[in-house]
Amino acid sequence: NSNVTGKIPATLIPGDGIGPEITAATTHVLDKLGAPFAWDVQQAGMAGLKAEGAPVPDSTMASIKRTGLALKGPLTTPSGGGFRSVNVTLRQAFDLYANVRPARTLVPGRYEEVDIVLIRENVEGFYAAREYFLPQGGGDGAHGAAEAEGMAVTAGYVTRAECRRIVRHAFEYALAHGRKKVTLVHKANILKLMGKVFLEEGHKVAADYAGRVACDERIVDACAMQLCLDPSQFDVIVTTNLFGDILSDQISGLIGGLGMAPGANIGEKQAIFEAVHGSAPDLAGRGVANPVALMLAAGLMLDHVGEHARANSLRQALDSTLKAGVKTPDLGGTATTEAFAKAVAERL
Ligand code: ATP
Ligand code: MG
Repeated sequence: NSNVTGKIPATLIPGDGIGPEITAATTHVLDKLGAPFAWDVQQAGMAGLKAEGAPVPDSTMASIKRTGLALKGPLTTPSGGGFRSVNVTLRQAFDLYANVRPARTLVPGRYEEVDIVLIRENVEGFYAAREYFLPQGGGDGAHGAAEAEGMAVTAGYVTRAECRRIVRHAFEYALAHGRKKVTLVHKANILKLMGKVFLEEGHKVAADYAGRVACDERIVDACAMQLCLDPSQFDVIVTTNLFGDILSDQISGLIGGLGMAPGANIGEKQAIFEAVHGSAPDLAGRGVANPVALMLAAGLMLDHVGEHARANSLRQALDSTLKAGVKTPDLGGTATTEAFAKAVAERL
C-alpha cells in the first residue's frame, strides 16, 4: 500500500487527555527511526467532538478506510451524551476481529521475564450480547425496568467461523513471530456449548500447524491462577472476548501496569494500533505520561507492515533507555514524557 513517495499512508489520531503528549513522543521516535509512514492526522473522541462535532467524524472513518492503518491515542467516551464507546464503534465498524496484546517485561518487578501474547476475539462473545430484563410476573422483556424484581439475561454468542478465524490468527501470529505454543482458553466445563464450539474449531485449526506450533488448552479460572504462579508456562493465549478482556488486564499487571501495554486491533482490511490504557485526564497537560505503551504499539504497527528491523530497533532502544534508569514517574523515575522520548531517540 505504498504511495508515490514510497511512504505508507497511515491515519494518526492523537486522541484525548494524555493522548497528544504520548503521540508527539511516539512520532518523534518514529521520525528518528525513519519509519515510512505518511501521516493523515484525524480527530476522534472528545477532540473529534470539539473539532468536528462528532466523536467519530466521517473524515476519520474515511481516512482509516482509505489507509487501512491507524495509530491511535486513547479516546475518552463522552459521558451523558448517549455516545457509544468510540473504541467499540471502530472495532465493530471495521470488523477488527483480533485484539493482539503482547506483554513483555521491560522493567523487572515482581516477575522477571514475562513474555506472553494474548489474542482476544474482538467482535463476538458477551461484548456483542443481546441483553434483556425480564420483570417478575411478565412485561416487555427488552424494555423492562431493571429496578423491578426479575431476571437479567445476557446472551453472548460465538460462531464456528469466527472461532476458526481468531484461532487461525493466533497460529499465524505464532509462526510469524517464532512462538512455540498456543493455549486455547475457555470455560467449556460450565459454558458447555460456547466452549465446545470454540474448542472443536480451535483444535481443527491447530491440526493444520501440527509439528510447527504446539497447542494446549486451559480452563479460564485455572489459567488465571497459573498466570500468577508461573507466567513462563504461557506463550500465545487465544480466547473469547470477555475472558480476553480480563486476562489481558491481569497480564499487563504482571509486567508493571498500564503504561507498558500495547494492543493491536486487526481486521481483514484495517488495523488500529493503540495503548491499552485510557486518556488519564489526571495527568493530561503535565508532560509526565509514560509513552512506552504507545511506542510499543507503533512497534506492532511497524511489524504489521513488514518493517521488522525498525520495530526491533525501537524495542531495543526502549529496553536500553529503561535499563539506563530513564523512566517516567509511574515507573518510579523523574523523566518527563519529552525527555524520555529524546532518550529513546538517542539510542536508536
Ligand atoms: P479513560 O476514561 O480514558 O479510561 P482513565 O482515567 O480511566 O481514563 P486510564 O488510562 O484508564 O485513565 O488509567 C488509569 C490511571 O492509570 C490514570 O489515571 C493514570 O494515573 C494511570 N495511567 C494510565 N496510563 C498511563 C500512562 N501512559 N502513563 C502514566 N500513568 C498512566
Ligand atoms: Mg480507564
